[in-house]
Amino acid sequence: MTKKKGDVAKKIFEVMEDEKCRQITFHYNPKTKLKLIWVIDSIPEKRDRSGKLTPNVSVSGGTRFAHTNPDIALQDALKLARAMTRKANVLGVKEGGCKAVVLANQKKNKPFLRSIGDFIQIHKGLFRTAIDLGFAMKDGKQIASRADFVDSLSHLEKGLGSTGENTAEGMIYGFEIISQEILNKPLPQCTIAIQGLGAVGFPLAEKLLEKGCKVIGADILPSNCENAKKIGVKIVHPNKILFQKVDILSPCALGAVINTKTIPKLKCKIIAGGANNPLENEFEDEKALLKRKITYVPDFVLNCGGFLQALVERNGGTVKEARQKSTIVSDMLKEIIAYSNKNKTTLLKSAIKLFGSSLNH
Ligand code: NAD
Repeated sequence: MTKKKGDVAKKIFEVMEDEKCRQITFHYNPKTKLKLIWVIDSIPEKRDRSGKLTPNVSVSGGTRFAHTNPDIALQDALKLARAMTRKANVLGVKEGGCKAVVLANQKKNKPFLRSIGDFIQIHKGLFRTAIDLGFAMKDGKQIASRADFVDSLSHLEKGLGSTGENTAEGMIYGFEIISQEILNKPLPQCTIAIQGLGAVGFPLAEKLLEKGCKVIGADILPSNCENAKKIGVKIVHPNKILFQKVDILSPCALGAVINTKTIPKLKCKIIAGGANNPLENEFEDEKALLKRKITYVPDFVLNCGGFLQALVERNGGTVKEARQKSTIVSDMLKEIIAYSNKNKTTLLKSAIKLFGSSLNH
């Protein structure tokens, strides 16, 4: 063993103590050069009578293909794993939260994708995952050819398809409550700006247009912009989308887009997105937004429809059932707004108080 690595293990434990996460796995496959980081934020406390954890305990979270820098990948996985714990609490399920990030410094060829499947399979169902950012459905098919625990595959693979549409469905229920209880304006009279017109942003735009809303959108992919323009979205340059004068700004691309640089330039009343972790530093940024009279609606409540669909799929349910169950977003949002009014605290702090704990896992 080489000695050049210094105090790596010590630093990793420091990170774990800071983040209060349960497990970090670094996986390397010398044949395919796969480098994968799997973070488990919480483990469900399901025990049998003798006190042993039950063998069917599982932790859920997507697997994404992103970042070439392992430190950035680890930060991303830590934040996203925590978001999964929170979403499990919002949905009232005893699932642990986790996230896997595959470093994006390799070609996604068959052996590489299949070695991701092998990683999932060796955990025998402890790790339940769905295909996330950076992987296409066809990649998911290769991964799932080696693993029994991959959700959100296409209908041909006996899955319920991409979770993006169900995420958008839940968000629409959330937007109805936002318009009634925060904006005091009917949703059809609202203007919404969407950053990212992909798996979540596009169906969200479609649903909002159906409601009669005005929708402004942007994407760095011209084809996504063209498709959105065809259905009636007003397209603006990606550099301008965050700064539109709108009722609701909906980040549906990357995380950390709301930060000290962007907050002074925002012209929206509400931020309510599909993207995970849109605030770079959650409490500091929420405070800065409030100073500008902008309300932040917690991402992990609004966008839990994707995880909900994965849970329905696992239980052999249908797309219709997943859509119907998405009304949970409006119920949970109402609960958070009521808690925030009663306790004179912000929506994010209320949501974390109600759904942030990993202790009941
Ligand atoms: P996606 O890759 O299908 O779509 C994201 C889109 O954003 C892409 O079209 C991309 O070109 C665009 N984009 C990237 N950078 C941009 C920029 N600077 N300006 C404008 N557009 C930009 O991903 P998705 O599945 O739609 O997920 C979007 C976000 O929602 C992610 O943060 C994801 O983690 C989160 N999320 C997704 C789901 C789901 O079910 N898919 C569920 C919960 C949360």
